[in-house]
Amino acid sequence: MSDARLRETICMIAKSLYDRCLTHGSTGNISARTEDGGLLVSPTGTSFGRLDPARLSRFDANRRQTSGASPTKEMPLHTAFYDTRSTAGAVVHLHSCHSVALSLLLDADEDCFLPPPTPYAIMQLGRVKLLPFFMPGDSAMGEAVRGLAGKRAAVMLANHGPVVAGKTVEAASNAIEELEATARLALMMRGLPS
Ligand code: ZN
Repeated sequence: MSDARLRETICMIAKSLYDRCLTHGSTGNISARTEDGGLLVSPTGTSFGRLDPARLSRFDANRRQTSGASPTKEMPLHTAFYDTRSTAGAVVHLHSCHSVALSLLLDADEDCFLPPPTPYAIMQLGRVKLLPFFMPGDSAMGEAVRGLAGKRAAVMLANHGPVVAGKTVEAASNAIEELEATARLALMMRGLPS
């Protein structure tokens, strides 16, 4: 996909996530691998509802920024996925409400965050690892993802939000939506006989 088309796709999908309240204000960030091995990344302090294709932070294959605004401060999270998962073509991070609520429960399962997942969630996400709380922008978040050695496509940052890698922007977006929908279902079913 050309740079221009990838820029449009990133902004269109981010707006769709924002319009459906899957992230709010200036929360969330999104990135994608370019054809030349570089990255396009959403800038710091921007809203998913109003991303400008021309202002996306552009990095070359050596991770040097070549154009655009300053990238999200959660950049270490994104690069950790690209460096450990060769199949990752895009990474999406949201502050989605039901996923965060589920991460606050005392009995949350660290190794398999989504309790008991639906087959579709397993297909799209695999097992979702629950990582502990880090201060926003703390590079230790990236180190925690690197510690998983590329074995997980999706993680949940406790008290913060999910991060999902996919082959394309659309695949990563679909998968993180599945994570949020499954978290919502788990909360709805909580305490009910099942
Ligand atoms: Zn965040």
